[in-house]
Amino acid sequence: MRRGVDYSGMFRYFQQRLEQSHWSHLDSAINIFFAVVLISGIVFFIFTQMANVEPRGAFSRYLFPLFFTTGISYLFWFNDLVFGLPFGWSRYQIVPVLMGAGLAYFLIAGSVTFWQEKSKPIAEGYKRCPKCKAIILKLVVECPECGKKI
Ligand SMILES: [Zn+2]
Repeated sequence: MRRGVDYSGMFRYFQQRLEQSHWSHLDSAINIFFAVVLISGIVFFIFTQMANVEPRGAFSRYLFPLFFTTGISYLFWFNDLVFGLPFGWSRYQIVPVLMGAGLAYFLIAGSVTFWQEKSKPIAEGYKRCPKCKAIILKLVVECPECGKKI
């Protein structure tokens, strides 16, 4: 008597559903797109962790939530293709909503932080670089951030 979950049966069922699913050209293209985005995202995050790189600026800080919603979107997309979604949901509705929410969060939260950084009051003895808007010492003739002459 076998105990536990029959994984080989589950795998066979999954394989059967995958073979029976109908993939359009759009589905194949989007599948490749998701795979490339997610794999490069994972590689990027592993690299930044291993290299101990402090992700700089609002862009990197809000990149992870965007990556997370992309991953969830892919799960819905793939699930709809192979098994179908409950409640009559369609991947053409739920994926754009999820991706839109992730992108909106990325853009709004990112620009709020960006604006807050830019509107910070400047301390005595400092000025703002006219080229890149970084806060630099008043005395410098070349911006240490962008390297341009002032
Ligand atoms: Zn500069």
